[in-house]
Amino acid sequence: MNQSVDTKCLHAGWNPTQGEPRQLPIYQSTTFKYDTSEQMGKLFDLEANGYFYSRLQNPTNDYVADKICALEGGTAAMLTSSGQAANFYAIFNICETGDHFIASSAIYGGTYNLFGVTMKKMGIECTFVDNEISEEELDKLFRPNTKCLFGETITNPTVSVYDIEKFAKIAHKHGVPLIIDNTFATPINCRPIEWGCDIVTHSTTKYMDGHASAVGGAIIDSGNFDWLAHADKYPGLCTPDESYHGITFAEKFGKAAYITKATTTLMRDLGSIQAPQNAYYLHIGLESLHVRMARHCSNALAVAKFLEANEKVAWVHYPDLENDKYHALQQKYLPKGSCGVVSFAVKGGRDAAIKFMDSLKFASIVTHVADAKTCLLHPASHTHRQMSDEQLLAAGVEPDLIRFSVGLEDPEDIIADLKQALELI
Ligand SMILES: *Cc1c(COP(=O)(O)O)cnc(C)c1O
Repeated sequence: MNQSVDTKCLHAGWNPTQGEPRQLPIYQSTTFKYDTSEQMGKLFDLEANGYFYSRLQNPTNDYVADKICALEGGTAAMLTSSGQAANFYAIFNICETGDHFIASSAIYGGTYNLFGVTMKKMGIECTFVDNEISEEELDKLFRPNTKCLFGETITNPTVSVYDIEKFAKIAHKHGVPLIIDNTFATPINCRPIEWGCDIVTHSTTKYMDGHASAVGGAIIDSGNFDWLAHADKYPGLCTPDESYHGITFAEKFGKAAYITKATTTLMRDLGSIQAPQNAYYLHIGLESLHVRMARHCSNALAVAKFLEANEKVAWVHYPDLENDKYHALQQKYLPKGSCGVVSFAVKGGRDAAIKFMDSLKFASIVTHVADAKTCLLHPASHTHRQMSDEQLLAAGVEPDLIRFSVGLEDPEDIIADLKQALELI
């Protein structure tokens, strides 16, 4: 049955039969029992399907991954312990020392460090590019050892919209997959696979969990990228794997090759499994994702319109606003609304921003974004605190940028809070 994405939030994944628990059970077990040593041996050889140790796979996690897979329209999916682990595994599954990839420079700061600093130490080089780059300029940056292109549907914290179709076309022309972090949009508002993206990642910590209760991540593979057609580029998927008696993932597992390799090699060797308890919290969040996203978006639009009209506000970025630079892309890729995050600045620089933030009554200052309660962060005084204004601009963060994550409260209360704080500066 072809269900809508809203219905899939409730019914995809765990599908109990007669007498089974209505709600997804938590398989709080590190290990799984087998009757014969031969049966267990077949699992280790990937000759049979089954659970044996929760560092690699756990049924609770897999049911949740199945739901997310259905929401994104993918072929196979897995959970990870965090969004950072998801983005690392998504790249490291197809990149080795000496390889190169290209990423949008407008991405989450943690991902920027992972790609630009930590992965560099592993001998994997990332070239960062502006989202406005032309096809001709981007073509020139591809090298024989370039293995993928990476971007975010909606960037954190500048809320610009990625032109997925454009970048998918360029990636495929060069024989590499496009990987997209779809955290801010969620599959309710945008399904990148429908626009040509090959692999989707998530920090499930944000809207998917939705209640600031569990850190987690997910990777979803469309199954559309033909690894064997580019076998020379992807030896990890297309040549025999010594650690599994010489099986070749792309031949043995077909469309599930990428996720199977990530679970059976990266999870096995590096860990980063999501705790089944956290997967359970995530699952509860997913059941209301469609209802919450609609409210996050309508609240954020009301807030953005209020800010846009307020004389103490210097500027507002929110793609759903008609005169926003990214409005056309929002209309194309996110017609139901983008997300609940609005970035803006008050007039008067850092001091005015601090005064304003400290005067808010219930919008709280937290290092978080995209959950049920309205919160905010000022990168210049928090995450990027040690930097001068010049350094901030060089890092792409406007010194006066306030990242405002609109929650699920009554929009009139959120606006009243903003209004009283703006009046004090
Ligand atoms: C938060 C975030 C991450 C990192 O996720 P964690 O779950 O905190 O590890 C990655 N990408 C985006 C877009 C994020 O907002």
